[in-house]
Amino acid sequence: MEKIDPNEFRKRRDELYRILEGIARHADQQSQGRCPYKNRYNQCTASFGCRNQRKPTPPESKPRCVGDDKLNYRGAWVV
Ligand code: SF4
Repeated sequence: MEKIDPNEFRKRRDELYRILEGIARHADQQSQGRCPYKNRYNQCTASFGCRNQRKPTPPESKPRCVGDDKLNYRGAWVV
């Protein structure tokens, strides 16, 4: 088995950390405002009621989400 160069290992680990840190920071910021049930088409995928849900168009699709991604969406959930 080939020996691992500790310096090369450290260099690659630090590079991986740098990349993942940026991704994690961006995901963390997005999760502060955008509801996790809102898909990329601004449709609601939740299986519970929410004040931000509006009738789907067309009727057979998922409900529309009118949340503005600025409010704390958790208060709108009907449990
Ligand atoms: S309607 Fe409510 S639960 Fe659904 S995506 Fe919008 S904020 Fe989230």
